[in-house]
Amino acid sequence: MANKAYKFRIYPNDEQIVLFAKTFGCVRLVYNHWLDRKIKQYEQDKTAVGYTACAKEMAEMKKSEEYAFLKEVDSVSLQQSLRHLDTAFQNFFKQPKTGFPRFKSKKHNRNSYSTVCINGNIAISEGYLKLPKIGQVRLKQHRTVPSEYKLKSVTVSQTPSGKYYASVLFEYESNNEEKELHSFLGLDYSMHELYKDSNGNEPQYPRYYRQSEMKLKKEQRKLSLMQKGSKNRDKQRIKVAKLHERVSNQRKDFLHKQSRQITNAYDCVCIEDLDMKAMSQALNFGKSVSDNGWGMFVAFLKYKLEAQGKKLVKVDKFFASSQTCSCCGYVNKGTKDLAVRAWDCPECGMHHDRDVNAAINIRNEGMRIAFA
Ligand SMILES: [Zn+2]
Repeated sequence: MANKAYKFRIYPNDEQIVLFAKTFGCVRLVYNHWLDRKIKQYEQDKTAVGYTACAKEMAEMKKSEEYAFLKEVDSVSLQQSLRHLDTAFQNFFKQPKTGFPRFKSKKHNRNSYSTVCINGNIAISEGYLKLPKIGQVRLKQHRTVPSEYKLKSVTVSQTPSGKYYASVLFEYESNNEEKELHSFLGLDYSMHELYKDSNGNEPQYPRYYRQSEMKLKKEQRKLSLMQKGSKNRDKQRIKVAKLHERVSNQRKDFLHKQSRQITNAYDCVCIEDLDMKAMSQALNFGKSVSDNGWGMFVAFLKYKLEAQGKKLVKVDKFFASSQTCSCCGYVNKGTKDLAVRAWDCPECGMHHDRDVNAAINIRNEGMRIAFA
């Protein structure tokens, strides 16, 4: 098992801001109260009060009217505060140089609290982070968290300038040992089919995906013909948005399956290092380039391979993959034209499918890099 932390910016609403402030305060109070308690106990008879004893005392304290407000915040965050204090003490005893644990002040310590995921009470979905007592907080998700990662814990913090962040810790199964590379696959990017591989295969999108893709195109056309501001157009807009979501979910699902299959079958996958943004701008393909999911597919492949100690190798994009004969190395300038789909090598006579030849070259170059 390995851990990975992701830090996300979160945007609490006014109500949540009040609750966060309350939690920061309670966590600090708990920390300071039992720090004081531990110090006094130690001075008295040189014994230590352990975590369990502190937690028991805290449970009692919450029952009193004076401290009833502690019940308003995430109870796990208070327990975590006691654990942090316990760790600080243990570190001090192990290594006195680290210094005696200090009281936390509102002024000198960053507002933060930690909580642990129990039975899915913390989760990230569709731009929101679900937190106990706080509810759904809007979150800026700048990268996809692999679906097999298990959420373990969260630390919420507030910067002095008032920004909120959630540092989310995930656990995943990993095989950190690098695998010996025996089997290689080259992938040549293709705008329509995603790629062609060095064995001549291309991904087979399921029929239902092609069908919903077609349906989306049809409904988009309908929408474009509708009068702006009309009620029907509004209805159609929602219909298109829903279809769009369905198509992108189906594609994501397919890309997961496809990258899983490749990862299980090969030790090293070689691809061209493509700048998709520049490509879509230069070729003005816009939509089709960004929509075919290549970037997402590469990301899925990379982490799935790495989780098994396997490799993804990127080959320089200036590498003349489609013009070089993968058999003898002869460079055939005549194939520069994209319309040439197949050719015979004038040097060795080998017959080439343009894309498969490119994929083989990418595989061979990737193999060279992997062993370099
Ligand atoms: Zn040749």
